[in-house]
Amino acid sequence: MVKNIVLTGGNRGIGLGLVKELLKNDKVDKLFATTRDAAKSPELQSISDPRLVIVEMNADCDSSIAKAVEQIGKSVGASGVDILINNAGVLYAVDINAPIDRKGAAKNFEVNCVATMAVTFAFKDLLKAAAKASGSAQVVNISSELGSISLTWGPCAPRHFTAYSMSKAALNMYTKTISMDWKADGIRATSVHPGWVKTDMGTDAADLTVEESTSNMADMICKFGEANNGLFYNWKFEPLTW
Ligand code: NDP
Repeated sequence: MVKNIVLTGGNRGIGLGLVKELLKNDKVDKLFATTRDAAKSPELQSISDPRLVIVEMNADCDSSIAKAVEQIGKSVGASGVDILINNAGVLYAVDINAPIDRKGAAKNFEVNCVATMAVTFAFKDLLKAAAKASGSAQVVNISSELGSISLTWGPCAPRHFTAYSMSKAALNMYTKTISMDWKADGIRATSVHPGWVKTDMGTDAADLTVEESTSNMADMICKFGEANNGLFYNWKFEPLTW
């Protein structure tokens, strides 16, 4: 019963791949893809599908988020937002065996956790509206296996990714928390690890192409139901431990 979807960071990488894959699903009525600068998003602009709406939003800025919510709210009306995909994220490398680069470390948390919380709360009323109209709504937080404490790769884990991993572990806690707290409003939340993907962040050395990751993820996200609330999955729809 997929209808209206909002996806952050839709202009490149995994977000752009998800836009292309989600539009293959004819149950998607409207797909709002956010970008910080529409004029600098040529690949997103080149997608020709009347269901795609490009919305400018900087997840670090409350007034920008409010403007995007207002625009999307006017477009969806009482049907609300059925799925919110928080994909926008950053990876700032921080050497933990040297004096800590506070700004770099904080940037991982500002975007990956704090901005995601601000965006998600701003869309809560539209998610509630969708839950009222059709029974449920879904938040998907694009996390990372690097944010799983139990799956930590031990001494092999890249130490300069520690601040990023910590931010994704914190994001996972947010997923779990709202999956419980917002259940009464009909809103579910699930964390997803996209795999190691060839993007600006993942680099060309990564295992998966954007298409390999996002074709599976788009399909999985549209199938999420009550049984997947408060859980963590990889792009193959395999459950991961926190
Ligand atoms: P990219 O670096 O290729 O793209 C990041 C996206 O996030 C861009 O659209 C970027 O917009 C957007 N973004 C960053 N900061 C903000 C902000 N403050 N406000 C709005 N948008 C913002 O990364 P990927 O596509 O690889 O990653 C997407 C998600 O997947 C991230 O959450 C990442 O942590 C996660 N992930 C990626 C993996 C990989 O191997 N690639 C592995 C595990 C998780 P702009 O173009 O304006 O900068």
